[in-house]
Amino acid sequence: MTVQDEITRAVSELAGSSHAIALTGAGISTESGIPDYRGPKGVWTLDKQAEAKAYERYEMFLGNPRHYWEEMLSGQGAHGAFYAALRYAQPNPGHRALAELERVGVLKHVITQNIDGLHRRAGSRNVVEYHGSVDRIRCPACGSRRGFESVTPGNLPPYCTCGGVMKYDVVHFKEPIPFDVMEEAEHQARVCDIMLICGTSAVVYPFAALPRTAKLGGKSTISIIEVNAEPTPLTLEGVTDYFIQGKTGEILPEIAAAVRKIKAGE
Ligand code: NAD
Repeated sequence: MTVQDEITRAVSELAGSSHAIALTGAGISTESGIPDYRGPKGVWTLDKQAEAKAYERYEMFLGNPRHYWEEMLSGQGAHGAFYAALRYAQPNPGHRALAELERVGVLKHVITQNIDGLHRRAGSRNVVEYHGSVDRIRCPACGSRRGFESVTPGNLPPYCTCGGVMKYDVVHFKEPIPFDVMEEAEHQARVCDIMLICGTSAVVYPFAALPRTAKLGGKSTISIIEVNAEPTPLTLEGVTDYFIQGKTGEILPEIAAAVRKIKAGE
């Protein structure tokens, strides 16, 4: 099958679906200028030390929250450049296409691993930010969140009204996924009839288990469509029903435009 055949099939399935959801990863935001981690030009592909540091960040918060915050706000190193890129980035045609699919009533939810807030900025309303967002801070003790702008660099670390020490809402390695987020994502995986997976290497767990949750614990008619620059374990292990190879910023707008036409009866 050609890429065009696969797109035609995805359009027809999406237009006839009753509860389609999208799962997205860093790949959907690379066309907004935010590097991914593991793609050929990924932050960690180019800088192995940045990867090692990322694995230590949650323990740093637990052991010395003030130092954690000072480092997070310092803007130093590969990590600092990465967070700076997140703040200036704008949604691209891939994000806007998913928002369009929600507007026409086809896509019910986006569950993203991304922390950049670009789905919400593109107009998607039902968004689960599985790994949190750079726009917020969170109290691990009681789960409450508030805007990042409430952080005062001269008064670190920030405290919650419950007395807990707050961290970035972003979920670091070795940190548990917040319960509310995990519950909503698993629910969506069980009730969806189409899962459109876009721009993720599908190696970060428990997020990468959601397609299997949909296949093994969800509807028997589930169809899993993957749009990615390269095959992933989901493709290679046969979890994906069909794989559309290419850029999300090119493929998703094509899919959204065709679905919109079908829905408008054109
Ligand atoms: P990843 O870096 O592991 O994988 C990205 C995948 O997308 C790769 O397979 C790559 O080939 C593909 N890709 C890159 N550009 C693409 C494009 N334009 N079109 C289609 N495919 C493309 O990312 P991941 O699977 O999301 O896991 C990384 C973790 O890092 C996540 O937990 C996420 O929270 C975090 N992260 C977030 C951002 C962000 O918020 N934008 C950026 C980098 C990493």
